[in-house]
Amino acid sequence: MKEEQSVKVGRRTFMRGAGSALAATALASSTLAKGGRALAGERPSLPGPESKSIASGAQYDVIVIGGGFAGLTAARDCALRGMKTLLLEARARIGGRTFTSSFAGHRLEMGGTWIHWSQPHVWDEMTRYGMGIVDGPGASLEHVSWLSGGKIKSGDAEKVFPVLADAMAKFCDVDGYGGRLVFPRPHDPLFHADEVRKYDGLSLQDRLAAVGFKQEVHDLISPQLTTLCHRDPASAGLADQLKLWALSEFDLGLLFERVNKYRIEQGTSGLANAIAADGGADVMLSTPVARVEQAGGKVSVTTASGAHYSAGAVICTVPANVLKSIDFRPGLNPAKLAASKAGVAGQGTKCYIHIKQKIGKWMGCGAFPNPIAVTWTEQERDDGTLLVSFGPPGRLDINDEDAVQTALRQILPGADVVATTGYQWTADPWSQGTWCYYRPGQLTRDMEPLRQREGAVFFASADSASGWTGTIDGAIERGTRVAQDVKAFLNRK
Ligand SMILES: Cc1cc2nc3c(=O)[nH]c(=O)nc-3n(C[C@H](O)[C@H](O)[C@H](O)COP(=O)(O)OP(=O)(O)OC[C@H]3O[C@@H](n4cnc5c(N)ncnc54)[C@H](O)[C@@H]3O)c2cc1C
Repeated sequence: MKEEQSVKVGRRTFMRGAGSALAATALASSTLAKGGRALAGERPSLPGPESKSIASGAQYDVIVIGGGFAGLTAARDCALRGMKTLLLEARARIGGRTFTSSFAGHRLEMGGTWIHWSQPHVWDEMTRYGMGIVDGPGASLEHVSWLSGGKIKSGDAEKVFPVLADAMAKFCDVDGYGGRLVFPRPHDPLFHADEVRKYDGLSLQDRLAAVGFKQEVHDLISPQLTTLCHRDPASAGLADQLKLWALSEFDLGLLFERVNKYRIEQGTSGLANAIAADGGADVMLSTPVARVEQAGGKVSVTTASGAHYSAGAVICTVPANVLKSIDFRPGLNPAKLAASKAGVAGQGTKCYIHIKQKIGKWMGCGAFPNPIAVTWTEQERDDGTLLVSFGPPGRLDINDEDAVQTALRQILPGADVVATTGYQWTADPWSQGTWCYYRPGQLTRDMEPLRQREGAVFFASADSASGWTGTIDGAIERGTRVAQDVKAFLNRK
């Protein structure tokens, strides 16, 4: 590893602050790149299920609110068990915090993207519907650059990666056993609740301070943590990181492989469509639910347009951050409502950046509050390189190509941004954030209340999953489980 003013990236070397010629070309190309503006709205590239028109007053066995992976799984499983099922989705599409889009001729995932066969619930669905995987370079990069002490450090991944892996192992070794005592059964996260509580009140930042890495190493590991929690490390809980570590078998290589390598060949929208097409639940799109009212052994659901539907049970799958926006009568239990009002941590940015240069398999990092925490080569292309980039909230306008170029050039001097694209998940009222990563104290305090049944209203979301919380796998885990619970509940009734 060495500090340098020029950055060797793949076959090319970009000089730091070099030459106005590079800058001028960059400006011209970004001005020309109007077609690549960030998405103002959602443009899924794969059509989904037809929306039915169902008269107000219709009665069902089960109404599912939300058509993300939790809601789609729950609706399918209820319908397949013979329950008359209605799914109400606020957006004009299914998929929730995932959708497959296209950008500069390539298919891209705007939200949830990577899955892995070690994620049991999503892999089960992949098998059921005959889906394939495509691997990206995310876990097999060749060169790393990171900002430290106002300079760019750089090195070959085979030298930098062991330093990062060692740092992450130290970071997670809270118990002298590599973190193994905290989540011995990560799919049953409160199995050692007392042990988990010892760390749940701490933030990632607290742990960074306690370990006391030297600056250069701190500046390498901190961006990874910012990306995993999608926020500043002071607002994210240490316990979630320890669980992720256990789910990745205490190995950074496995963690990277499990969270940023394999995409679904048919797209997340392809998988969502396959689930939606199975079972035969009625689907109504563009139908936000405004109120959920329980009385006389029935649950009545009122949409924003004033239509009413009733059922023996309701499954609410809206994100934790969105729960507070629905009028529940009687009101949500105070712990659930407080958790929703506090919100979970993940609220950062994800965007794709197409640059002119061919830079090989590269990763660039900048510690919080750098606008780009981590960015890496997602596709090597004939016309340059496509980077995927993650950052904390409020530091970068992903709609502004010039701002993205300025931020990128801090890590990759001279980079010419051709176009950028990304979706503003945190500004979207139906998600109000990205993936779930708990704040300090939330795992032991809020996970159980968030998924607790309230009368005939059941709750399921990736945000309160036991295992891979905050993932597609976690959503399917909860959807699967809640459909089983609803069947038992209605049978008892
Ligand atoms: C940028 C980004 C990157 C990610 N990367 C990954 C990744 O690589 N791998 C991975 O596994 N996961 C990833 N995730 C997380 C993953 O996408 C989510 O955890 C998962 O899709 C959530 O599923 P869900 O069904 O629990 O919630 P959602 O997908 O949010 O579904 C909830 C649904 O409820 C609907 N809704 C909300 N309010 C109402 C209302 N009032 N009435 C009716 N409907 C309503 C919403 O429109 C939505 O469709 C990422 C997420 C984002 C945003």
